[in-house]
Amino acid sequence: MITTERKIPPMCQHQPTCPPAESADRESARLVAHHPEQGWSLLCNGVLLFEDTGELLPDGRVIAPHRPLGVEQVMTAA
Ligand SMILES: [Zn+2]
Repeated sequence: MITTERKIPPMCQHQPTCPPAESADRESARLVAHHPEQGWSLLCNGVLLFEDTGELLPDGRVIAPHRPLGVEQVMTAA
């Protein structure tokens, strides 16, 4: 896979395709880049997902963090 391109792919190259950035389900898109040291991830649909759950949409809109901080722990199965 070529990862030197910095531009965001215009469309999913896979099936099923990811939910669009406009979708409420946008966070379930595939992860195409993950930079935990910088605190962000790039989803396949062009959404930048930040560590604090804030998001930057491809059209420039900013989604405020919507989950409380400090809930990193994995839920244990009951
Ligand atoms: Zn995709």
